[in-house]
Amino acid sequence: VNNQVSYINNPLIKDYKFSEVGTPDYTDIKLDNYISVIEVVNPMHRLWSDGRWNKLTMAHGCYWGKCTFCDISLDYIKIYEPIAAKQIVDRMEELIESTQNTGFHFVDEAAPPALMREVALEIIRRKLTVTWWTNIRFEKSFSLDLCRLLKASGCIAVSGGLEVASDRLLKLIDKGVTVEQVAVVNRNFTEAGIMVHAYLMYGFPTQTKQETIDSLEMVRQMFELGILQSGFWHQFAMTAHSPVGLNPEKYDVINHSTELGTFANNDMIHEEKSGLLHDQFSFGLKKSLFNYMHGVGFELSLNEWFDFKVPKTSIKPNHIESVLNNETFTTHKSTQKVIWLGGKPQVEIVTKTKKGKTFENAVLQFHTKQDYLEIIVDKEIGEWLVEFVQFLKESPKTISYQQMKTNFEEYTQTDFELFIYSKQAEKLKENALLIV
Ligand code: SF4
Repeated sequence: VNNQVSYINNPLIKDYKFSEVGTPDYTDIKLDNYISVIEVVNPMHRLWSDGRWNKLTMAHGCYWGKCTFCDISLDYIKIYEPIAAKQIVDRMEELIESTQNTGFHFVDEAAPPALMREVALEIIRRKLTVTWWTNIRFEKSFSLDLCRLLKASGCIAVSGGLEVASDRLLKLIDKGVTVEQVAVVNRNFTEAGIMVHAYLMYGFPTQTKQETIDSLEMVRQMFELGILQSGFWHQFAMTAHSPVGLNPEKYDVINHSTELGTFANNDMIHEEKSGLLHDQFSFGLKKSLFNYMHGVGFELSLNEWFDFKVPKTSIKPNHIESVLNNETFTTHKSTQKVIWLGGKPQVEIVTKTKKGKTFENAVLQFHTKQDYLEIIVDKEIGEWLVEFVQFLKESPKTISYQQMKTNFEEYTQTDFELFIYSKQAEKLKENALLIV
């Protein structure tokens, strides 16, 4: 106003909804004039600082909004507003047009898995070649198939909070995940070729020495098994608008800060009632992690990383491995979507004679983005598959698992489960057929 910046408080005018804010315009930032900063060797930190990424958000706020160390009472977390996948991909296309850059960093607090799936499908539908990465929560819904779909759409990395790798503390944090679940999800991402970075925490209120060492052991095992590629230890900081900051007594913490502040006051001076000083672990945790990220030091006993006496870990040395080996088998849900990522199959019918009986088999050959694949199935199944793939590719609507099952059983007059859990179908699922 009159060439002055004035603050005008007009409560009648509401904030823009997230769906109305439009596409960010980065055209005036001449990023080509800047050098890329390679800050550290940590692969995820490198993504943060190195090169250029168009910044976008899938959803405002956090759909979980419960973690007790997080500012969940403030709007930037509390108000959860996702937008439609189509609108997100429209924004991506606009940004590609204006910046000529096809790399995207979704700066969500935690991108919702169902929305990520829809964004991936939309990217594939529009045949865009993009690269993207984002923050997530390690939800069970990140199945291997979903991770493969994300990868096919250009997802290269995800970061999420494992925090303190201890089920007691994860519960106290109200993180909504368990260590086992994180291990399985990390394995799925890794198998699909997506890098995983974990935010690690130490010094959460009431955390004991033993729990810190056990948490380090869980992390060590995940790196050794190769299901985690990057991580960073953050010491717990008490933020004013988190459940711990608002109610320190409940978490056995003594608050020494008097200022609450209206926005994020991220580091309130506090003390554990138990008197345990967590800072002493900082150096050892960081040093061990630095080594693990370089693929070395797994054989060293954990006390070697610290210059004071620490307890022995109570976690079995093969704990995470046995979690992965004993993963419970999950069946598909009838409403899940069926996606075909391969090309059109070529089919050849061959006749075989065994013990005087003659069989007709179909030899199917497919090309996927990375591979060439051949499977042999009964003639009827082969013919059904060729027609079904054609139908999937042409159908404007997505096909559900139940529709695929009904279609198969009507065509072949055989039980679908016998086929979908067969070796041949496993091969298809590894390469082209996704159920998400
Ligand atoms: S820590 Fe992350 S997942 Fe938890 S409430 Fe905050 S933003 Fe959501």
